[in-house]
Amino acid sequence: MTTSVDDLTCREFVELVTDYLEEALEPAERRRFDEHLVDCLGCTAYLAQMRETIRLTGRLREEDVDGEAMAPLLNAFRYWKQARSRPPTASLLEPDL
Ligand SMILES: [Zn+2]
Repeated sequence: MTTSVDDLTCREFVELVTDYLEEALEPAERRRFDEHLVDCLGCTAYLAQMRETIRLTGRLREEDVDGEAMAPLLNAFRYWKQARSRPPTASLLEPDL
């Protein structure tokens, strides 16, 4: 849906966060990640939670954080995004209710 190659979306952030934490991202990707963090409270909070998860468990697997744990996070993203503006990608974060 997105046509931008510069702006990382929250969806991409979530998909790449494990690579980020494992320092497996390309430098350019890493920079986009950091730039997104500056502007996105939702992902900043998400990253903090992921780091805490790693600290507590000593490891990180995607299956540990998706599903139930993701729903409130995605709702938080939507809340923060709406507080700022209404992005065209908001529909990607709509939960299936
Ligand atoms: Zn974000």
